[in-house]
Amino acid sequence: MSKRDYYEVLGVDRNASQDEIKKAFRKLARKYHPDMNRDDPSAEEKFKDINEAYEVLSDPDKRSQYDRFGHTAQGSTWGPGGGEGFDFGGFGPFGPFDSIFDEFFGGGFGGPRSARRGPERGRNIRYDLEMTLEEAASGLEREIEIRRLETCDVCNGTGAKPGTSPTTCPVCQGTGRISETRSTVFGIGTVTTTCSRCFGKGTVITDPCANCQGRGRVPKTRKIKVEIPKGVDSGVRMRVEGQGEAGVRGGPPGDVYVYITVKPHPVFKRSGNDLIYEQPISVYQAALGDEIEVPFIDGKTSLRVPEGTQTGTSFRLRGKGMPDVRGRGRGDQHVRVKVVIPTKLSEKEKELFRELAKMQGEDMSDLKSKSKGFFGKIKDAWEKRA
Ligand SMILES: [Zn+2]
Ligand SMILES: [Zn+2]
Repeated sequence: MSKRDYYEVLGVDRNASQDEIKKAFRKLARKYHPDMNRDDPSAEEKFKDINEAYEVLSDPDKRSQYDRFGHTAQGSTWGPGGGEGFDFGGFGPFGPFDSIFDEFFGGGFGGPRSARRGPERGRNIRYDLEMTLEEAASGLEREIEIRRLETCDVCNGTGAKPGTSPTTCPVCQGTGRISETRSTVFGIGTVTTTCSRCFGKGTVITDPCANCQGRGRVPKTRKIKVEIPKGVDSGVRMRVEGQGEAGVRGGPPGDVYVYITVKPHPVFKRSGNDLIYEQPISVYQAALGDEIEVPFIDGKTSLRVPEGTQTGTSFRLRGKGMPDVRGRGRGDQHVRVKVVIPTKLSEKEKELFRELAKMQGEDMSDLKSKSKGFFGKIKDAWEKRA
């Protein structure tokens, strides 16, 4: 039921510029390009996610749609596969190919990077929750099901088989870095790269834990309770702290973000905390006035329609709108009346309408004779000319 947030996939802020998005995409696409990761099958999956996120966020229309509605497709897409957590923060050593690409793409020969990776925070999980307007008005408590990586309880997250422990990396001797002398266009220089055997950790697991295959974390499906306060609207994001994926190497867990969508209501239209409601009334109620009953989101009330009310007139019911999500009272409900003109009149009813019209000074047969007179006059004029 969870799909990773596109902004998170690209490691950019929600209000990142198109330029920043493009930069982040290029960097990640280089890193996870399947050609460069032949022995890491999970890279292809990541590469796909990165492309999908970029396709949406690089298109202003798609991006604004996504900002408003999120991942429209429900169902579970299990984000970039298990194993090590990946640092999407945009800094720190990225992996074995990072410095090679720096050379290719003009990044220069960076000095030695801080190689050994410290604790890493677990990833956040996005959950899309759709609710009715009534539910949004009353608030709700819901149990949601999420799938997340949890610390393996057999090896306590080390990835090493119980009784064994990770050993010093034989390639970098535990430094996490490899320095090489290369000749370049600028002469001979020392290039330091992250160790490709241990990915900068300095240790390798020789005897992996059978439960997590050495990854240190295992996927689990969990139900967690979320409390949605009353008054929420589409686009609101609720954070459930610490319920995301487990951290790596002692890092803190990520959070769960519940993205809310309130479904359109068949009767009430929402405008901020106000609700707009259209009430049909008869021509008789409009003319004579009446006391009518109107619904609001969690009840009903009576409304006095004064005599001579025109169609389109709006009445305000104070405090009958949506509750404010910050607890500042309630909005109003606007009742817009629509006068319904009767159709399919019987002969008797038509007669009564004609009589009413006559009393209002509008004689229907008189109108007809007037128009006859008009055409008659034209006819006369023609006859005179002839
Ligand atoms: Zn394990
Ligand atoms: Zn190493």
